[in-house]
Amino acid sequence: MNIHVIQGIDRARQSQRSDRTSGPRGGERPKERYQALTQKSLESISKYGKVTDDDLFAMRVVSSVLPFRTNSYIIENLIDWDRIPDDPVYRLVFPQRGMLSDGDFRRIADLMTRGATRQEIERAANDIRASLNPHPAGQRELNIPAEEGEILDGIQHKYRETVLFFPSQGQTCHAYCTFCFRWAQFIGDKELKIASKDAVGLHRYLADRPDVSDLLMTGGDPMIMKTRVMEGYLRPFVDDPALAHVQNIRIGTKALTFWPHRFVNDDDADDLLRLMEDVVRAGRHVAIMAHFNHWQELRTDVVREAIRRIRDTGAVIRSQAPLLANINDDPAIWARMWREQVRLGIVPYYMFVERDTGPRQYFEVPLVRCWEVFRNAVQQVSGLSRTVRGPSMSATPGKVEVLGVQEVGGEKVIVLRFLQGRNPDWVGRPFFARFDPQATWLDQLEPAFGDESFFFEQAPQG
Ligand SMILES: *Cc1c(COP(=O)(O)O)cnc(C)c1O
Ligand code: SF4
Repeated sequence: MNIHVIQGIDRARQSQRSDRTSGPRGGERPKERYQALTQKSLESISKYGKVTDDDLFAMRVVSSVLPFRTNSYIIENLIDWDRIPDDPVYRLVFPQRGMLSDGDFRRIADLMTRGATRQEIERAANDIRASLNPHPAGQRELNIPAEEGEILDGIQHKYRETVLFFPSQGQTCHAYCTFCFRWAQFIGDKELKIASKDAVGLHRYLADRPDVSDLLMTGGDPMIMKTRVMEGYLRPFVDDPALAHVQNIRIGTKALTFWPHRFVNDDDADDLLRLMEDVVRAGRHVAIMAHFNHWQELRTDVVREAIRRIRDTGAVIRSQAPLLANINDDPAIWARMWREQVRLGIVPYYMFVERDTGPRQYFEVPLVRCWEVFRNAVQQVSGLSRTVRGPSMSATPGKVEVLGVQEVGGEKVIVLRFLQGRNPDWVGRPFFARFDPQATWLDQLEPAFGDESFFFEQAPQG
């Protein structure tokens, strides 16, 4: 990890003061220093709002099992502390009691109350984690390509035209989302990490595959990397003719919400923007796949400045996010978020269904309800926001969109469609599931019309 983690905001605040005058560009803009807040320094949040001792204890219990990390930018700018615990950004980063089942919660709470050792708590936490489906959608077993008999760590190649790359220096985030589907990698289980720092291996893999038009850098958050590390991955797209077929470079990030200073005030922010601009000038589409869950994340001056600066490089910012109970399960929130994004020049891209992992019971929204929220939100915005697609499940056979509920031949059905498929031939073909207002994931749906299986379950795996 590159970033400097300081346990406790107070201490960090003091050191920031001296930083303001000594930073390399200290004169022109007040320099913000990244300050993390973790389980060990949870107490310090009570000076921002009314957090009861019970709440603090609950957070300590939940964060023994699920990863927790936030930072001062979020705490000081994005949360309305007089609205906690209902504030959406508060729930986005601070663990809540309901994120563990009652049984799991009590198990850890009892251990803590009777002063159990760290090892005892860790053992119980590991049990619970293992029961929370840490690697959904076959990520570990499927999709990892073999090159010359070797497994290529850090590369996932599921859809013909797009290669996913997990740079090992980008496998953490400036804060953790409480619903994160990659949560397992943040609790230090090395077994679960899919990552590589083999830039040469990545470029060789791409050079050998003329069908690949897109590289998608993902994490964690690749924007946590220093620019000089990013250079190693991206510079070859400026000057290596063997990579000319890779037209689109996407970078998935939540830094615009969690640390927009990455693009404005960080020491190497200007270098990062120059790198992006060079890749654009070399004829590539650079897309920043920005993760925003709520319009509240768009309200600071620095995020708007970051958006402006990124767009000035010629890169396009596209937005995506899961639909989450307790955070954004309301069409008005999405409509307002998309409208503000479009005004800021961001292109809405995906609405996801929350994955079947981790604290899903706290966040999950039935597929039928997801569709209602999507439809209602889309009805409230102009065509410029309707570039968004969804609600989409990233399931084992592919990305499946819920098109809606309909009655066909007297049977109420859910209509679905592949946006991406393990087999490219599956894409764009509508299919039908029996109506089920409770189902929250593809594997809970049954085929409609008395069919024994869905068409993609019969077809040979692509
Ligand atoms: C979503 C996704 C992609 C990108 O799909 P697009 O439809 O091109 O946005 C690529 N690989 C995996 C594994 C994905 O889940
Ligand atoms: S930004 Fe993405 S990878 Fe990071 S914690 Fe949030 S959902 Fe997970």
